[in-house]
Amino acid sequence: MLTKISGVGPKTLKNLAKLNIHNMEDLVNHYPFRYEVLEKTSLNEEKSIVEGKVVTPPTVYYFNYQKNILKFKAVVDERKVNVYIYNRAFLKAKLKVGSIITIIGKYNQYKNTLVASEILFGKIPTDKKITPIYHQTAQINNKKIIKLIKEALNHYDFKTNLPLEVEQKYNLLDIKTALWEIHFPSNETLLERAKLRLKYEELFVFMLKINYLRQNKTNKGLTRSVNYDQVSDYIKTLPFTLTADQDLVWQDIYHDLTSDKRMNRLLQGDVGSGKTLVAIIAMYINHLGGYMSAMMVPTEVLAKQHYETITQHLPNLKVVLLTSSTKNKKKIKEDIQKGYVDIIVGTHALLTSDVVFANLGLVITDEQHRFGVNQRKNLINKGIVPDVLYMSATPIPRTYALTIYGDMDISSIKTMPANRQKVATYVKTMQELKTVLEMMYQELRARHQIYVIAPLIEESEESELESAEKIYQNMQKAFGAKYQIGLLHGKLKPTEKNEIMTAFQANKMQILVSTTVIEVGIDVANATMMVVYNSQMFGLATLHQLRGRVGRSEYPSKCILLAKEKTPRLRVLEKTNDGFVISEEDFKLRGGGDLFGHLQSGDMKFKIADIKEDYKLLVELKKISEAYLIEEKMTPAIKKILADISKLA
Ligand code: ADP
Ligand code: MG
Repeated sequence: MLTKISGVGPKTLKNLAKLNIHNMEDLVNHYPFRYEVLEKTSLNEEKSIVEGKVVTPPTVYYFNYQKNILKFKAVVDERKVNVYIYNRAFLKAKLKVGSIITIIGKYNQYKNTLVASEILFGKIPTDKKITPIYHQTAQINNKKIIKLIKEALNHYDFKTNLPLEVEQKYNLLDIKTALWEIHFPSNETLLERAKLRLKYEELFVFMLKINYLRQNKTNKGLTRSVNYDQVSDYIKTLPFTLTADQDLVWQDIYHDLTSDKRMNRLLQGDVGSGKTLVAIIAMYINHLGGYMSAMMVPTEVLAKQHYETITQHLPNLKVVLLTSSTKNKKKIKEDIQKGYVDIIVGTHALLTSDVVFANLGLVITDEQHRFGVNQRKNLINKGIVPDVLYMSATPIPRTYALTIYGDMDISSIKTMPANRQKVATYVKTMQELKTVLEMMYQELRARHQIYVIAPLIEESEESELESAEKIYQNMQKAFGAKYQIGLLHGKLKPTEKNEIMTAFQANKMQILVSTTVIEVGIDVANATMMVVYNSQMFGLATLHQLRGRVGRSEYPSKCILLAKEKTPRLRVLEKTNDGFVISEEDFKLRGGGDLFGHLQSGDMKFKIADIKEDYKLLVELKKISEAYLIEEKMTPAIKKILADISKLA
């Protein structure tokens, strides 16, 4: 209980929830993203660590469509200096005149300006310890987080999932020491050992689950008697010929579904590669075999889209749509329970709640990239174990895929349908913004629509929203007189998001400014251009996924990647449209460094480990964890993990 900690009232609880901290365990596992050794220095150009007193109220300026700068004056060493800090507009309210602060930054004597990389509240601690730096929000600053975590660690009932044997064999820190040291390191060496200890634990648990799922895969599944020719005849009625890969994949699926092997298959392929069509064929086979199918998707818009495609391709089947805005939910659920329905398309939340399926034979999950072992939820299905097909639009290199999806068969669609247009991609700097605006204008005049993606900002969600709003205002200035512009961001309610997306789909808006929430599969054929701000902040796979939103029609489409510099990494996207190549390059080129950040590679979100950097460790823990699947080696902690996962599997 978080309320056990002194100083945690309802307000703090709410603010912690925004950081995804809901209990003591979350709090002690909220790791710093950076560390500083705070030792007072004089004002200097290299790295100044100084105390100051705020003497003027701060002001915030926005510039370059995407950034803000906060300015105030402070007295440092009896001298009045200008203090600047970028993209921390949220500090404005906290920096009151008279506040004592610690400033870390670079001092320019000529301009008498201290450009801060960090502002912490209070004096410089005298203990010269390594100070943890956490992601902050307007409501919870670093000092407050430190205080809360200290308190939490003092009250925490330390528990670990890593067997003591492993800890000893690899000479790892115990969990209590590791957690204290990751937050409040005594020295560099212990900090490194703490990180390693926590990675071991995280990867151990992850691989334990995967190994367990692989070993205990319900190998026996449904068999169906389905006439092969009937399926290929159906495929002949489709308005196009299948690509070579689509052809191979549907036959694999046919084999899974008609043999007694249970299907547990991951289907990887770029956006637009024709996965949905394969899914439709799978559902048709399942139907011929006498079972109903369910398709689960992350958003309502996507559900509706899939519903329409499926109805169009399988007009003789009874297809229903089940989302939060569905009107006659009760009746539909009854029909599903009675078995009057062939295909159900719905959002995860709805399908996993209280829906009872009469004879569900196939579950298809279209999770885009947001998918991990913990989300493999079971559906209530009266004793039948359905076959499962996962679709993912962010391919990851095969070696990694085989390890982290070790319990699944993997199919890939690499060949794109022949009629597919490449999205012409250009990396542009902000100096070229004028050209970009001209390109946008041409696109609008041709009656096409445009997505504008606001930058990802590391510091806080507030600044992310602020920057999206700023871009929105600038788009209004540039195009507002003639065109309608919408703004979409994560803070909107689902219904508001839906309204905006629907309006854009109906061409009631010509420009949609959006934070990356757009990523989840909206399909607007008339949108032919995308502009991404600060694209250097994104992983290549994410950018590739984003640009997949355009180029969905016969019109030529373009994607402009605005960036600080035209780096070789970004230029990979100018050269290729193949998601498999891009993902390999991304894994190769992405430097380390954001281990603690929230900008990890899209697929797998680890708290501390990094799939690419720690791949060797992952493989090692795959081996280590295998040994613990034998009954006599299982600790109570392991038993609990396995019990939880088998509920989901
Ligand atoms: P994904 O689900 O992988 O994003 P879809 O199945 O939605 O891709 O396919 C994208 C578009 O391409 C759809 O309009 C679909 O009808 C079309 N399509 C799928 N397969 C083919 C094919 N073999 N030839 C031509 N068009 C295809
Ligand atoms: Mg089978």
